Amino acid sequence: MDASASCLCGAVRFRFVGEPLAFYQCHCTDCQKQTGSAFGLSLVASAEHVVLISGQPREFRVSMPDGRVKRGRFCSECAARVWGEPIKWPQLRVLRPGTFQASLPFEPVGDIWTSSAQPWVALTQGPHFPAQPEDDAALVRAWQSRASR
Ligand SMILES: [Zn+2]
Ligand SMILES: [Zn+2]
Repeated sequence: MDASASCLCGAVRFRFVGEPLAFYQCHCTDCQKQTGSAFGLSLVASAEHVVLISGQPREFRVSMPDGRVKRGRFCSECAARVWGEPIKWPQLRVLRPGTFQASLPFEPVGDIWTSSAQPWVALTQGPHFPAQPEDDAALVRAWQSRASR
């Protein structure tokens, strides 16, 4: 796919040119706090497939009480977060499909942290994980096999 994306004010513009590695909904309380919404939408991409067109998204780092550090980029003009940069996987970007100009031609393939999901939220068909999947690649495999379901 070739998707154009931007922050809220348009100062930061970028393109995603490639195929997603996974696309899922995360209901963890970190995502709820970070977005101020019910859940986070995570579209996992290779960093090399994300091309900055304009603007200079600033880095943020959040140190969590359990020692994890959350890292990503945001627009310093409008404060919209444009993507995550996982410390553990520096070769990946976690895109937020709400930044895309056009709606996506596919749906998220699963849900994680369903134990903290808002009780009224609609989950995907699954797979569902009550917390972080023990197998980091579980959602990647689910994404790869979705066409055959
Ligand atoms: Zn902006
Ligand atoms: Zn989350």
